[in-house]
Amino acid sequence: MSENTADLSTTPRLYVEGPLSAGREIALRDAPAHYLGSVMRRQPGDMVRLFDGTSGEWAARVLAVARKSVTLVVAAPSAPQEAMADLWLCFAPLKRGRIDWLVEKACELGVARLVPVITRRTIVDRLNAERLQAHMIEAAEQCGRTALPVLAEPVTLPSLMRDWPVERALYFADETGGARLVETVMPGPAAFLVGPEGGFMTEEAAMIRAVPAAKPVSLGRRILRADTAAIAVISVWQALVGD
Ligand code: SAH
Repeated sequence: MSENTADLSTTPRLYVEGPLSAGREIALRDAPAHYLGSVMRRQPGDMVRLFDGTSGEWAARVLAVARKSVTLVVAAPSAPQEAMADLWLCFAPLKRGRIDWLVEKACELGVARLVPVITRRTIVDRLNAERLQAHMIEAAEQCGRTALPVLAEPVTLPSLMRDWPVERALYFADETGGARLVETVMPGPAAFLVGPEGGFMTEEAAMIRAVPAAKPVSLGRRILRADTAAIAVISVWQALVGD
């Protein structure tokens, strides 16, 4: 079945559990069905774009629209699986709202992996991974990603530093001072480490600086909120060496 997938740019785009393959029928319920049927008012014969996070994006055709379900059949690939920039964001979990915003922006900006780091001044030591995953899926649907960032299990700062992979540059956003970011960023596997609202303890900063791959970087003389700092460093990295 050859599909004219050229004019799909305005069709709705949804993340579904994979694997996607030509001819596979998918029955959507709950929120995705409501979105396609009631919000986007898709009718049988209309096209939709689906992605499962691993096999790229596929054009699918609406077969049936019922009150609580929408049935689709996968037609043909409409975009290849992206190669993600090899960029991690290690961040101290923030309050609900700010952390939601942070993971959504990190997803839009192409981050491959999000690593929640528990530091001495982290005020939030539990995070709702399901809620954050939903924010990342929504961001990926909106921004055109075919791969979802990985949200890692929370890890303490000492264990993350102890096990740091030697080949990955660790750009440490240090509000007490560091090199200029634009003069420090190099191509290659990278991670940014951003502290909690209260910043890093002195001994934590020393522990980070002791890691061979660590590169302390300053974002200027103003003290940024952690979420601002995270998005700033990712944006600069993407502009200089990203995808
Ligand atoms: N201790 C600070 C607050 C920390 S800001 C205070 O005095 O209020 C939260 C985090 O954002 C910091 O741990 C750091 O990772 C990052 N950050 C904020 N401003 C920064 C800057 N100007 N340069 C580098 N990193 C910064």
